[in-house]
Amino acid sequence: MKLAIKNTFINNLPADSNLENTRRQVENAAYSFVNPKQTKNPKVLHVSLEMAIELGISKEETQSEFFKNIFTGNQVYPNTKPYAMCYAGHQFGNWAGQLGDGRAINLFEVEHQQKNWKVQLKGAGETPYSRTADGLAVLRSSIREYLCSEAMFHLGIPTTRALSLSVSGDDVLRDVLYDGNPAYEKGAIVSRIAPSFLRFGSFEIFAARNDHKNLKVLADYTINHHFSHLGKPSKETYINFFKEVVARTLDLIIHWQRVGFVHGVMNTDNMSILGLTIDYGPYGWLEDFDYSWTPNTTDRQNRRYRYGNQPNIGLWNLYQLANALYPLIEEVAPLEAILNQYKIDFETKSLQMMKSKLGLYMNDKEDVKLIQDLEDCLQLTETDMTIFFRNLSDFEGTNFFEILENAFYTTAEVSKDIKEKWEKWFQNYDDRLQKESLNQLQRKEKMDAVNPKYVLRNYMAQLAIDAADNGDYSLINELFQLLKKPYSEQPKYEKWFAKRPEWARNKVGCSMLSCSS
Ligand code: AMP
Ligand code: MG
Repeated sequence: MKLAIKNTFINNLPADSNLENTRRQVENAAYSFVNPKQTKNPKVLHVSLEMAIELGISKEETQSEFFKNIFTGNQVYPNTKPYAMCYAGHQFGNWAGQLGDGRAINLFEVEHQQKNWKVQLKGAGETPYSRTADGLAVLRSSIREYLCSEAMFHLGIPTTRALSLSVSGDDVLRDVLYDGNPAYEKGAIVSRIAPSFLRFGSFEIFAARNDHKNLKVLADYTINHHFSHLGKPSKETYINFFKEVVARTLDLIIHWQRVGFVHGVMNTDNMSILGLTIDYGPYGWLEDFDYSWTPNTTDRQNRRYRYGNQPNIGLWNLYQLANALYPLIEEVAPLEAILNQYKIDFETKSLQMMKSKLGLYMNDKEDVKLIQDLEDCLQLTETDMTIFFRNLSDFEGTNFFEILENAFYTTAEVSKDIKEKWEKWFQNYDDRLQKESLNQLQRKEKMDAVNPKYVLRNYMAQLAIDAADNGDYSLINELFQLLKKPYSEQPKYEKWFAKRPEWARNKVGCSMLSCSS
C-alpha cells in the first residue's frame, strides 16, 4: 500500500512546540504532535471500499496486515507525523474554552485524483486535548459513526466519510447512562476521512485568545486550500468566505430536515467549516414526525438540539463564527447582512425542499399554507416520517388512507376529527397536484429521489450493535450495503422499510442516547 502523502496542514499551520503527550492548554498552535496508542489485538471489521478507492487503496491492500496496523494506530505510516487539532467551542450555548481532538488523531493527508483527504483515527488514545477522558471509543458508538457517515454520503448529504471500522482488542470503561454504573465495553477505532476536519471552534480558539496572527494564518490556509475560488485572502475575501460557510451550513441543515436527521450535539466544535456533517455522537433519525424530538438524553431538559430547532441553532453557531472572524474584518455590517440573509434564504430553501418532497414544482401562493397544514397533520398522531413521504409518491387521488395506515404507529387512537383533517389535507393536495404538468409516474420518480426509502433508523443501528457485542458482525455489512442505495427499491431488504418496532420505543440506544462514547 503506497499512499501519495502530502501534508498541507502541518506544513502551513503552527505546531505546539511541546511534544509530550500531557493534557494541557495549548497556545499559539493549531495542533500538537501525538502518536496513536498501541492496541492489544486489533481486528478490522469492515472497510468502505468506495472510500478506499478514493484514497488510491485497492481491495487487496485493505486486507493486508499493513492496512490493519496503520488504520488501528499500531504503526505510523513512513515519514508522517500524526497530530491532534486544537480547537475550542460553545457547548449547549456556553463558552467551553479549549476542547480539541481529545479522541481523534490525524494520521496524514493523501492526495489522489486531484483530491486532498485528511485521514484521522477516532478512538486511538489520549492526546493533549483529552481533558479528563481516555481518548478511546467503544464499539457501539464506532458502529454508529461508521454506518451513518457512509449512509449520509450515499444520501447525497455533505459529510465526513469513514474508511474502516476496527476493534482494538482492549476494553473500555463507560457509564452509558451517567448513572454511576460503569461497565467494560469493546474498544474500537474508526478511520475517518474528510477534505478538512476544521470546525467553527478552530477559529474561535484564536479569537478568544486574541491571537489574531494565528487567526489570520488559519483563515488564509482555509481559503487557499478549501475556498481558493474566492481569490487571494483579503478583507473582502474573508467576508465572502464567511458568506460561503453560511450558505453551506444552511444547505446542510436543509438536507438534515429533508431526511429527518437530528445531529444531537450541534456545539460549535461540531460544526464543520466546510459544511459537512461531522462528529456522529448521539444523533438520531426521526421516526414519528415531531419537531420537538431529540435523541440526546444529555439535552432532554432544554431540547436545544431538537429537530425543529436545528435551523435556528445553525444560525446561532454562525453568529459565533462571525464573532471569531470579526478581527479579520473589523466591520459589523457585512457580517450582519450575511446572517440576516440566512433567515431569508432558509424560508426560500426550506419551502423549496418541502415542495420537492411533495412533488410540487410550479409556484402557488397557497403552497406555504399547504405545507404548514401537512406539518400540523403529521403531528396529530405518531406518523412515521420516512414511510409517509416515501409512500406519498403513490398517491393517486383516492388511496390516501392506505398511505396513512402504513405510516401511523397506531390506527386505533386516530379519532374521527383527525381523519377528517387528513382527508381535507389530501383533498387540497390533490387539487394542488392538478396544477402540475407531470403525471403521477413522472412525479413519483422525482419524489423518490428526495424521499429516501431506507435510513439508518436508531433501532437498526442498535440491532447491529447488539449482534456485534455477541461477535456477529454480519448485520454491519448488511446495513452498510442497504444504505448505499437509500433511494432505490431493494426488494431483498424490504424488511428494513418498516416502522420502529415497539420494543425499541424506549430502549437505550434506540430512542435514548448519551454523549458517552
Ligand atoms: P463531542 O461533543 O462528543 O464531539 O466531544 C466534545 C469534546 O470532548 C471534544 O474535545 C472531544 O475530543 C472530547 N471527548 C469526547 N469523548 C472523549 C474521550 N473518550 N476521550 C477524550 N476526549 C473526549
Ligand atoms: Mg466533537
